[in-house]
Amino acid sequence: MNKRGHVLNAILLAIGLGYVLEPSGDIETFIVIAQLSIPITLGALFPDVDTDFGKHRKTLHNLPILAIFVIWPIVFNNLHYVWIGILTHYILDLAGSKRGIALFYPYKKEYNLPIGVPVSSSKADIVTVIITVAEVALFAVVHWYIIPLDTAGAEITTVVGL
Ligand SMILES: [Zn+2]
Repeated sequence: MNKRGHVLNAILLAIGLGYVLEPSGDIETFIVIAQLSIPITLGALFPDVDTDFGKHRKTLHNLPILAIFVIWPIVFNNLHYVWIGILTHYILDLAGSKRGIALFYPYKKEYNLPIGVPVSSSKADIVTVIITVAEVALFAVVHWYIIPLDTAGAEITTVVGL
């Protein structure tokens, strides 16, 4: 997926998650959307830095990198929500294009989902929107039934005693 697709995905995801975390639809919702928008967009752009540093779709497209961004806010109390952008970048590359990503890098095998469309395809935007809707639904289920996303970091910090 190209940068345009990743930014579209990040912005739509921030809006959707804003309503999941703060469903009132008033000023509070828009504050949450604003709070999410920049970190998620930065996260969504970050993995493709490996087009210039390292090996594209390998060096910054893997689960160890995602783990760093999940753990970072728990340890250092900054860069909250950037991991969501990283995760959604991986999902979009896995599902929204023909080439896969090396999820377990330095193990070099690239994983892919067979539903991808070429990055240049006219269907790329609609695939991006469909994937984003599915992601918002998944986050909503996690937030409502498993762990509240907006307090998860603080809860984990308390549990592990950091
Ligand atoms: Zn990528």
